Amino acid sequence: MVDKFPETYVSLLPEVADFLAKPIMPYINGEYVATLSGQTFDTLDPSTGRYLASIGRCMLDDANAAVQAARRAFDEGDWWQKMSAADRSKCIWRLAELIEVHADIIAQLDSLDNGKPLHTARTVDVPLSADHLYYYAGWPTKIEGSTIPVSPQNMFNYTLREPVGVVGLISPWNYPLLMATWKFAPALAAGNCIIVKPAEQTPLSALYIAKLTAEAGFPPGVFNVLPGYGEEAGAALVTHDGVDKIGFTGSTEVAQKIVQGSVGNLKRVSLELGGKAPNIVFADADLEAAAIGSTWAIFGNNGQSCTAGSRLYIERSVFEQVLDGLEQATKRIKVGPGMSQEKYNLGPVISDEHLKRVMGYVDEGLAQGAQVITGGQRMSGDLKEGYFVEPTILINVADQQRIAREEIFGPVVCAMPFDHVNEIIQRANDTDFGLAAGLWTKDLSKAHKLAKALRAGTIWINTWGNTEASSPFGGYKQSGYGREMGKEAIDLYTEVKSVWIKTD
Ligand code: NAD
Repeated sequence: MVDKFPETYVSLLPEVADFLAKPIMPYINGEYVATLSGQTFDTLDPSTGRYLASIGRCMLDDANAAVQAARRAFDEGDWWQKMSAADRSKCIWRLAELIEVHADIIAQLDSLDNGKPLHTARTVDVPLSADHLYYYAGWPTKIEGSTIPVSPQNMFNYTLREPVGVVGLISPWNYPLLMATWKFAPALAAGNCIIVKPAEQTPLSALYIAKLTAEAGFPPGVFNVLPGYGEEAGAALVTHDGVDKIGFTGSTEVAQKIVQGSVGNLKRVSLELGGKAPNIVFADADLEAAAIGSTWAIFGNNGQSCTAGSRLYIERSVFEQVLDGLEQATKRIKVGPGMSQEKYNLGPVISDEHLKRVMGYVDEGLAQGAQVITGGQRMSGDLKEGYFVEPTILINVADQQRIAREEIFGPVVCAMPFDHVNEIIQRANDTDFGLAAGLWTKDLSKAHKLAKALRAGTIWINTWGNTEASSPFGGYKQSGYGREMGKEAIDLYTEVKSVWIKTD
């Protein structure tokens, strides 16, 4: 197994080599089971484009089996009806602990599958996933209803907050374990039984942690993982009458299909989608901090973040100065294979298809008059087999061009000057998206004015990219429905029941 990886890679942990050695099957009703069609698909290493592992390709019949298992676990009460809230809490806490115990293994799996640097997976993705579970482990014992002071004196009215039921959780490839955890931690805390459908590009970590759920004490059927393609495994969950809710993170385009596909049983749908976040640097900001912060606002995770600060607006009087700081910081970014023994800041983009998409945007921008400050090319030499793109800064971009309006989801930033506060509010909000926005200023009044005026679910001021399990996260406009994290995610995965009792 190991010889298919370049010699420059760190050694695979034996557990990782073992896990990748055989086809990895869906996890249904507490065990790995063969797909009913016997079909598999390959997941690739984006740093080399080479085969990594063979994965069970789930289709409708497998989705039926997973839904049946989750339905039984929910309806017959193993998780929600029979277990106490305190015991559910302990299971979730134990899963967090097990993720920490297996952190080195999971980090290698995410690094191999996604291409991100191993140290990033090990110090960011995996610990944040465990933290998310620790936070939500506290919730089962705190999900409360209310008593309502209704008018008739002989009536007592109260509310119960109950799980939605069987929930399909469809996740993307950019932070493979973390994005799935953002969904399954609150869904489980609220008492739902779940089916995780990881992205076909990065199914490994979700499939690996499935077995940890048994060790953590989850009854069979509570936590299922259904790997496969979106149009097959994903769509089967979306249209299934036995699924009560879909939690989705991914592109706006697929979200529209999910909304359409969900109408059969009017299942609940929550959506965390894309963005084209405006990042605004005012002349009165700490310009050095703004230049460094703006570099990582876009190039963090290779621009493959829904919150990437891909529209960089710089006040005209400091445009050259900030651009220069951005260029210097960008040129210091080291790009290479995620599993390399050498420490890189960024890996490849996720796939050949995505690389072509990203380069297509760059080429179109250049053809329309944009100018490259740095980057602009696919990387060659030792990196030519993988999907590596140079971190790219473009200027001379007009607001109406596609590169300034559409989500590129790669390491490409458009830097554009502006002159006035009111102008920049209007330009920043002139987008179909509304996930995140940010600004750099020392002027408190300006900061508050923009925090209110910008139409986005998260606003960062003199910082970028902060998220935490306790703080709600989600989008305005076409960036989604609902809020994940914090108490809001508990609301997202529960129904409210109103109970009336006649007291005389
Ligand atoms: P994608 O929409 O292509 O795929 C996401 C998931 O949906 C995958 O698991 C895929 O298999 C599945 N899918 C595809 N077609 C489907 C269908 N017809 N029915 C059901 N499921 C289907 O997105 P991606 O390329 O994996 O991820 C990138 C996108 O995710 C970007 O737009 C990014 O902004 C967004 N994203 C948003 C957030 C957020 O929290 N708002 C976080 C991360 C990524």
